[in-house]
Amino acid sequence: MAFNLANLSSNKPSEGERVKVLVIGSGPAGLAAALYAARADLHPLVLTGMELGGQVSLTHTVENYPGFPEGVGGQELVELFQKQAQRFGARIEYDTVTAIDFSQRPYKVSTYNGAYLAETIIITTGATPIHLNVPGESELTGRGVSYCATCDGWFFKDKQVVVVGGGDSALEESLFLTRYATSVTIVHRRDQLRAGAILQKRARENSKINFIWNTVVTEILGDDKVNAVRLKNVQTGEVSELPTDGVFIFIGHHPNTQLFEGYLEMDERGYLVTNKLMETNYPGVFAAGEVADPVYRQVITSAGMGAAAAMRAIHFLEEHSQETEPSLTQP
Ligand code: NAP
Repeated sequence: MAFNLANLSSNKPSEGERVKVLVIGSGPAGLAAALYAARADLHPLVLTGMELGGQVSLTHTVENYPGFPEGVGGQELVELFQKQAQRFGARIEYDTVTAIDFSQRPYKVSTYNGAYLAETIIITTGATPIHLNVPGESELTGRGVSYCATCDGWFFKDKQVVVVGGGDSALEESLFLTRYATSVTIVHRRDQLRAGAILQKRARENSKINFIWNTVVTEILGDDKVNAVRLKNVQTGEVSELPTDGVFIFIGHHPNTQLFEGYLEMDERGYLVTNKLMETNYPGVFAAGEVADPVYRQVITSAGMGAAAAMRAIHFLEEHSQETEPSLTQP
């Protein structure tokens, strides 16, 4: 299903237009936050970023989001989130934030198209799976190339898959894939895994998992869908082809937090740090979804975090209404 771009605005905002709730990012966390803020009559503004929907829009079918017993297309789910938020008055702009002035509230948020003054900000900029950047990867994404075993593992029932990476994610997702696939071949660039001991033991003991060491994937092959990978042994230089139905790439994620460096507290990997109320270290600035969650990274958990962040933003605005609204009763 195509995105309903007709319903997205790309109007140039008046310089410094004031908004009560500004949501940065339009994945499940952002659109759920917008829905909740809209239902509180706060007319939230969502700035989509480069693409509406974030990572879920790249997922062929989502089968673990409750309410869709037959599954739902990733893009279709995003469009439903979008429509539901807009129905209650959320405004969704196809625009990207370029800078935020954190020195005073309301915060000045500059974008490609202009600037806004935001009384509260909900950051839902997500994370980006690191790509191998080899030929065939982008062309075959969603056609056998995946970055999410939980989302796509089911499609590889009784098939053979390759997993790239040697960290906790690669092993954990490989173990998950053994529920479906007949074999999981982990291709790792060294001869030692980065993953923790327990995962290593479980993976090594699983009869469906085998390893190809000191090897990198140099190309993903297939026309309509993946049918093989080209491998290169980094020690011998030997090149080979391995037939496979799918390639799962788990070589790390980058949280999309570059904009906030030097202002918002982050952990050692760059994920935003929040408390249980989704608050960052700046008043009225909340974070939700993968940008603040290196652990669960699911549509449902991100949407839940987005809803929680919006509820806290609503509460924050109520508490600070004297500061941000001109008083109606002057002495
Ligand atoms: P990671 O620990 O950074 O591991 C990435 C893996 O991909 C490494 O084995 C690395 O190889 C390999 N790699 C990186 N770039 C590559 C490239 N261009 N080509 C081929 N291979 C490449 O990432 P992660 O596994 O996503 O884990 C991220 C963090 O989340 C870690 O702190 C991890 O402990 C944590 N995590 C924990 C759990 C858990 O505890 N259950 C589950 C998932 C993630 P090298 O080893 O050679 O560098």
